[in-house]
Amino acid sequence: MNSIRPNVRAMAGYTPGEQLNDPDIIKLNTNENPYPPSPRVFEAIRSALTGDKLRKYPQPFGDTFRRTAAQVLGVDPDGILIGNGSDDVLTILTRTFVPEGGLIASPTPSYILYRSLAEIQGAKFETVPFSGDWQLPSPWPVRGAHLTFLPNPNSPSGTALRSDEVERLAADIGGPLVLDEAYADFAEWNGLSLVKRVKNLIVTRSFSKYYSLAGIRFGFVAADPAIIRELNKVKDSYNCDVLSLAAATAAIADQEYYSDLRAKIVATRGRLTVALTELGFTVTPSQANFVWCRRSDVPVKPIYEQLKARKILFRYMAYAGYGDGLRISVGTPAEVEKLLAELRKIV
Ligand SMILES: *Cc1c(COP(=O)(O)O)cnc(C)c1O
Repeated sequence: MNSIRPNVRAMAGYTPGEQLNDPDIIKLNTNENPYPPSPRVFEAIRSALTGDKLRKYPQPFGDTFRRTAAQVLGVDPDGILIGNGSDDVLTILTRTFVPEGGLIASPTPSYILYRSLAEIQGAKFETVPFSGDWQLPSPWPVRGAHLTFLPNPNSPSGTALRSDEVERLAADIGGPLVLDEAYADFAEWNGLSLVKRVKNLIVTRSFSKYYSLAGIRFGFVAADPAIIRELNKVKDSYNCDVLSLAAATAAIADQEYYSDLRAKIVATRGRLTVALTELGFTVTPSQANFVWCRRSDVPVKPIYEQLKARKILFRYMAYAGYGDGLRISVGTPAEVEKLLAELRKIV
């Protein structure tokens, strides 16, 4: 087929983390929450299956979800756009802001989907290296980007910039700055309260990690209502289905349930950090539900391979100009104990 767009033909395509179905696998590679979603989510889905709710179209703009989320988070319901996972909203943002031949910028090492979004759009992609301690240069060196992506907390490092640093970056960039907050619910602060004041700041959220709903596919954008109005023109008319809207609405309404999970995950993250350090890893202090660790004495790829052979899966990542490391999701205490027991045998 020679009518494929050249930029699409040239791209490799984004490779998601391995999704192995073997129930014996301890799966610590794609940062899912190790605990089940709120019981209210199951009730909401069961109730969505009654009557003729599946026969009819869902709310195109997710009004019930937006009202509930706005109340819980203290934001304007007209400042929310719903998405089929946060990757969907990142795509909508790219299609809205970035012309063909345009420019997308992001720090590195960071989330590699941004490059794929640029390639699909036929846009250029420029990266700015983080410093050794995961800070960004000031002033930000890329001028005139149509969109700048900043995950905060960042993946794979789990580190977060401070609120004043994000605000300064937004002022410095001038153009739209997307604060990808897939992990912000695990962090010490988040950017939602900045959105009202910092007009070029766009916050994205995922339900795959904190809300334990990776299988449902739901995410949203919080931004100035003037931006949301434009994004709404670009999204698919019914990008979220009846079941995902019901699940997401029930989840966000049950903050109490999730803050208990957060406390457990943060406690396990602390124990994992200490234990990996004792085993000789250099572990970056994390504000997310995973940790990033490296070694200078031995290569880490064989560690990943040996643990995978023992059915414990995490992520091996290598970045040009930086090097490699292991990103390990925070599992349950039992999963983390098994991981550490196996690691002690080989390192
Ligand atoms: C997981 C992740 C996402 C995507 O989340 P989905 O809602 O599952 O699409 C976006 N950004 C970052 C940095 C992530 O780690």
